[in-house]
Amino acid sequence: MSGQWPKIRDAVVGLVDERLEGAACVGRAPLFDTDPAVDEDDDATAYRLNAAARICRSCPVLSACDAVADEQGRGVLGVWAGRARGTPRRPDRSAEVGG
Ligand code: SF4
Repeated sequence: MSGQWPKIRDAVVGLVDERLEGAACVGRAPLFDTDPAVDEDDDATAYRLNAAARICRSCPVLSACDAVADEQGRGVLGVWAGRARGTPRRPDRSAEVGG
């Protein structure tokens, strides 16, 4: 997990906000993470985040999710209510050997 900011998985899995009960992203947290995986290039990240946004479009709590994300302000990171929010962090590859 990256950073201190709340992510959708924290909000949903921990049921921090009961307005998100019934969220379509439950159990799919990695799909909604705006931080790229170590072996994921930009195209793969964009593809994954678009897939997450498509799930949001049919989510029964889309409006509530948008409200929760807005309430969190700049603190949110990840796909919330169909939008990638926050500034993703590239994995640190400085320690990788070879190339
Ligand atoms: S709108 Fe998207 S991010 Fe928000 S709860 Fe639903 S599936 Fe999850």
